[in-house]
Amino acid sequence: MERTFLAIKPDGVQRGLVGEIIRRYETKGFTLVGLKFVKVSRELAEKHYDVHRERPFFAGLVEFITSGPVVAMVWEGEGVVAAARKLIGATNPLTAEPGTIRGDFGINIGRNIIHGSDAIETAQREISLWFTEEELVGWQPHLAPWLH
Ligand code: ADP
Ligand code: MG
Repeated sequence: MERTFLAIKPDGVQRGLVGEIIRRYETKGFTLVGLKFVKVSRELAEKHYDVHRERPFFAGLVEFITSGPVVAMVWEGEGVVAAARKLIGATNPLTAEPGTIRGDFGINIGRNIIHGSDAIETAQREISLWFTEEELVGWQPHLAPWLH
């Protein structure tokens, strides 16, 4: 089953959006298989954002993501990688659609509340970077399949 990596960034935690964000993925029908509250090391932050190493905002991004606790999560479900990104909205919260997490809660591109993997291969890389195999809990909700 497809899995994605999501992280509520320090601004999302500071603004008390943890419950609201988890609720959106739960009620959408995805399954939580990994969850932890972490103070991100510089090493992990630099690895996570390695593709942006040459961008002008890289140093500030690493500074920000290591500035306070982050909620790291793995969610599972059919098409979850793309669907989770859709619920997140565009990178710039000012142009993100209302109804998306960034569209509803943010105004600043550098403080855009949440990270989500952008492709299946990226998700696999990020999940193994942030979680050990033992930290992931495979389970099935006891719902009749036709319920969702
Ligand atoms: P996304 O998080 O939507 O996948 P990117 O992968 O392009 O976006 O960028 C990673 C993160 O870097 C963004 O979520 C944002 O926090 C930050 N970022 C991107 N572009 C800028 C920018 N122009 N100025 C400041 N921060 C930026
Ligand atoms: Mg990205």
